[in-house]
Amino acid sequence: MKILVVGGAGYIGSICTELLLDEGHEVAVFDNFVEGHRAAVDRRARLIEGDLADRETIELALRSTGVEAVMHFAASALVGESMQNPSKYFRNNIANGLNLLDAMIATGVNRLVFSSTCAIFGPPERVPIDETLPQRPINPYGESKLAFERILRWYDEIHGLRFVALRYFNAAGASERFGEQHRVETHLIPNVLKVALGQKPHVEIYGTDYDTPDGTCIRDYIHILDLSQAHILALGAAKSEFYNIGTGGGSSVREVIDVCRAVTGRDIPVVEKPRRAGDPPRLIAASAKIKSELGWEPKFQRLDAIIESAWKWHQRFPNGYSD
Ligand code: UDP
Repeated sequence: MKILVVGGAGYIGSICTELLLDEGHEVAVFDNFVEGHRAAVDRRARLIEGDLADRETIELALRSTGVEAVMHFAASALVGESMQNPSKYFRNNIANGLNLLDAMIATGVNRLVFSSTCAIFGPPERVPIDETLPQRPINPYGESKLAFERILRWYDEIHGLRFVALRYFNAAGASERFGEQHRVETHLIPNVLKVALGQKPHVEIYGTDYDTPDGTCIRDYIHILDLSQAHILALGAAKSEFYNIGTGGGSSVREVIDVCRAVTGRDIPVVEKPRRAGDPPRLIAASAKIKSELGWEPKFQRLDAIIESAWKWHQRFPNGYSD
């Protein structure tokens, strides 16, 4: 297929692009490089620099590439930042996303794979979280993604847009060539690995008084290659649908740090800090629906395998991408 990967210079978009190309698809990457990196764009892909705030550029990109489908990764995705600057989240994730949808409708591109998030659920009544649980986000990031999911439903009904929304839990790990590097790193695993590399003196633990066995937040870390594979399967989905996607396993912040110590063999000092605003205590995915309907099966169930891949990438590129 011919696919436009919007946000293809970011962490998840870059690795999806790599996998699509490996499988013989033709890929164009659309990115504004605010968060993304030029060096993260696979050289085999065509590159179009542009911003979703600019409706004309995106429409031109769709027309000039003649793609059949879009993968949409371009969004602001930090819970903490969304609690400081909600406007950025509603603008980027809803208003700019709407430009993409309208450009797709105008150009007759009617297949979309959308990056959604478990943050749409807020603190769940039970874990693992399946698709039937109520959606009550507790931060503007989750709220913005939920709003966009609802918009997708209407665009399907009114315009015949066929979409799959994948609600990621915590994406982690790396491929051989591409990995996780944000301009301001707030994510747990890369921050812990920076300590292992000697680039930071310690890792901070945000909250040790949660109602969890060791008092720290529990997340479901899913390997980026498994997540990317789900996107490729979603391209072939027969109908519009929402899927939760994780491994079904939960690891606390302290457990992640311990596994990083074991994988790297390095000392990793920690400093305990207060809770970070907007963090639900426990998020674990039920992925039965995507397994049964799209035939998705994760290859990496163990946290140490996920962290090993991230550690390999961080050792190979200790300063990350050059730009
Ligand atoms: N976290 C932490 N120290 C850090 C970064 C994150 O204790 O330096 C915690 C954070 O509060 C959350 C978990 O680790 O409970 C995962 O956070 P991350 O930002 O990686 O992903 P999120 O779940 O927010 O998408």
